[in-house]
Amino acid sequence: MRDFGGVALRTPRLVVRPSSAAEIAAVVRSAATEDAVEMVARGCGHSSRGESLTDGIALDMRGMTAVHRVSEDSVTVDAGATWREVLDAALPNRLMPPVLTDYLDLTVGGTLSAAGIGGASHIFGTQAANVIELEAVTPEGEIVNCSPSHRRHLFDSLRAGMGRHGVIATATLRLIAAPERVLSCRMHCASIVELIAEQGRISADHISGQVKSSGFELKAVLYDASSPPSALSHTDVEELTFVEFADRLRPDVEKLVELGEWERPHPWGQVILPATQAAPLIEQTLTHATPDDIGLSGVILIKRFRPGQVPMLRAPSDAVLFALLRTASPGCHSVAQMSAANDQLYARAQAIGGVPYPPQPIADLARAI
Ligand SMILES: Cc1cc2nc3c(=O)[nH]c(=O)nc-3n(C[C@H](O)[C@H](O)[C@H](O)COP(=O)(O)OP(=O)(O)OC[C@H]3O[C@@H](n4cnc5c(N)ncnc54)[C@H](O)[C@@H]3O)c2cc1C
Repeated sequence: MRDFGGVALRTPRLVVRPSSAAEIAAVVRSAATEDAVEMVARGCGHSSRGESLTDGIALDMRGMTAVHRVSEDSVTVDAGATWREVLDAALPNRLMPPVLTDYLDLTVGGTLSAAGIGGASHIFGTQAANVIELEAVTPEGEIVNCSPSHRRHLFDSLRAGMGRHGVIATATLRLIAAPERVLSCRMHCASIVELIAEQGRISADHISGQVKSSGFELKAVLYDASSPPSALSHTDVEELTFVEFADRLRPDVEKLVELGEWERPHPWGQVILPATQAAPLIEQTLTHATPDDIGLSGVILIKRFRPGQVPMLRAPSDAVLFALLRTASPGCHSVAQMSAANDQLYARAQAIGGVPYPPQPIADLARAI
């Protein structure tokens, strides 16, 4: 079995597709008695460093995709539901999760286990910061509910815990009013410093940054606005329905599938950096990066955000996600070369107080939380 990264391959001895928390608990208890065989939950398997792979028991969470209840400010869903399925259930009530990932075909359990950084995370924090309650199965096989006010330690160890401290069975998530239309404004920045500074200055509902061959591009998206504010009046403006905007990656993904790039290995290197120190590290990294380091369809993202109260992420409060979304395309650098470049990036990030994303699982919870 492989994941989206395609860097690690592991063959599970058993794949189980549970349909309830009770079934997860039964698998967890039997794995614990069977010589402590490893058990790993898998959502869509879109992680890139083998986090959802195991030689032991793979728990295929796509057997649990129900949306149980949508109220005026929350939704309760099975952890194997994707953000697309959550949005499909919420939008008829003109509601949406405050933070959506760029790509909707990721499970709720998978991104809450990573943290879930989206274009609205500069306002609302990560997806993990917008959870009201979790129902989970502990490593001992107990089914428990936890929230900021009940069993807080468990709640904090599950969010951004990479599945190592229990399996999320269902999640109650915050909802907010959804817009009908959006104005998407693109502007060019002269430097990385400006790209990061503008992301902190501009007032918009959704903000992202990319390094392209043409330069540094900032995208600021406004919900239900009739015209861009003066700071964005000279930009390229496009009006879209909210659904088109939320699902904006779909055409690109279809193209990548057609070209064969989607199936190639993706040794992604992503770090979360303190905003005040991010620019020199990013500049230095990009000075040495060639197109072959990123691959034919690789993407470089720079996104300023505030993680919110998610202790396991260990991110600075004013943070920048620097993501080198590499594809090991034919004729470009090998997976080994790209992975080695990622290791250097993690070391440089750590030296200035940064952390890898998704987070490395932490065994010592007492020290982490
Ligand atoms: C095209 C693409 C776009 C992406 N865009 C974003 C983005 O905008 N923002 C962002 O933050 N990330 C993004 N990611 C990365 C993504 O957040 C992580 O890969 C995420 O973990 C994927 O969710 P998944 O359902 O595929 O989880 P998986 O890869 O299956 O699992 C990820 C981790 O979560 C654990 N896990 C899964 N389900 C559960 C559960 N129910 N309980 C406990 N642990 C569980 C797994 O064991 C594993 O450690 C993107 C990835 C891709 C491929």
